[in-house]
Amino acid sequence: MSANKGKRVLITGAAGFLGSHLCDRFIKEGYDVVGMDNLITGDLANIQHLFKLKEFEFYHHDVSKFVFVPGKLDYILHFASPASPIDYLKIPIQTLKVGSLGTHNLLGLAKAKNARILVASTSEVYGDPTVHPQTEEYWGNVNPVGPRGVYDEAKRFQEAITMAYHTYHGLETRIVRIFNTYGPRMRLNDGRVLPAFIGQALRGEDLTVFGDGSQTRSFCYVDDLVEGIYRLLLSNYAHPVNIGNPSEITMCEFGEEILKLTGSSVKMVFKPLPQDDPKQRQPDISKAREILGWEPKVSRAEGLKRTYEYFKSLPPEELTKSAHRFS
Ligand code: UDP
Repeated sequence: MSANKGKRVLITGAAGFLGSHLCDRFIKEGYDVVGMDNLITGDLANIQHLFKLKEFEFYHHDVSKFVFVPGKLDYILHFASPASPIDYLKIPIQTLKVGSLGTHNLLGLAKAKNARILVASTSEVYGDPTVHPQTEEYWGNVNPVGPRGVYDEAKRFQEAITMAYHTYHGLETRIVRIFNTYGPRMRLNDGRVLPAFIGQALRGEDLTVFGDGSQTRSFCYVDDLVEGIYRLLLSNYAHPVNIGNPSEITMCEFGEEILKLTGSSVKMVFKPLPQDDPKQRQPDISKAREILGWEPKVSRAEGLKRTYEYFKSLPPEELTKSAHRFS
């Protein structure tokens, strides 16, 4: 019998990309999982395979409003939030509310249930970073009133209130700073670079590179991220920890990789760089290595292959839904 039998975890954003993978992992580890999502950006298709399990229950609820879950909770993972620049540009107020009011509600719930809570923070707290690679000690370079401010500042507030509950109430808290992550169940139309490029290649459209494509990102495969989060939750470290893959690449190089992967003969075309788009991003993962004994295992070549297989397996109509759902 699993050592985790009878332990109960609440996962918010359960129908989203990361939330759904976390649900799978905790079910696999023997936990009872309570999923919660308001389904604004999440999709029940990501968790429909779990509904037949007695270890899984689901609440259709917006955590920005008072959250009630009957029964005990051992852990809370707060993963509800729009997380792609296009999403939080289209729904800025909800983005601010879920990171601030939503986090406050869940911290209150954690306190009431005597549960440990892990909140999903982000490399966006570093803004357009002037320190490279980014260590957890770096305070960031964020424009609070720019288009990304609604996400970045909500997440910075989230970290502040989480630490306040830790120091003032003695609540057991964990903060993960997530860098760009990819894998199956990303929304093909979420506007992020990876689904954008793969969708374009599959439809035979040119790849839209923003700016001159010299900006960098470091992409982590979702299974690696989930492993890091799992270890962080079970650790006793309350300060923020970067989880990401340090392998850094420019967007032009990334476009080339996608063209090679898909065997597509389309071109790369250049479009204006969105405002405040970070020029470089790479996690320093020394802390995760030391404290969690964690580092990523899945190479970009392997991760991209698995992700491409997933996108190819979707029904063809998904591919034509290239327009964003809020547009
Ligand atoms: N990007 C791009 N073409 C696209 C979408 C995004 O060149 O169709 C660029 C974007 O400007 C950014 C990088 O890819 O520099 C990663 O963007 P994404 O939206 O995936 O996430 P971010 O890391 O900016 O939050």
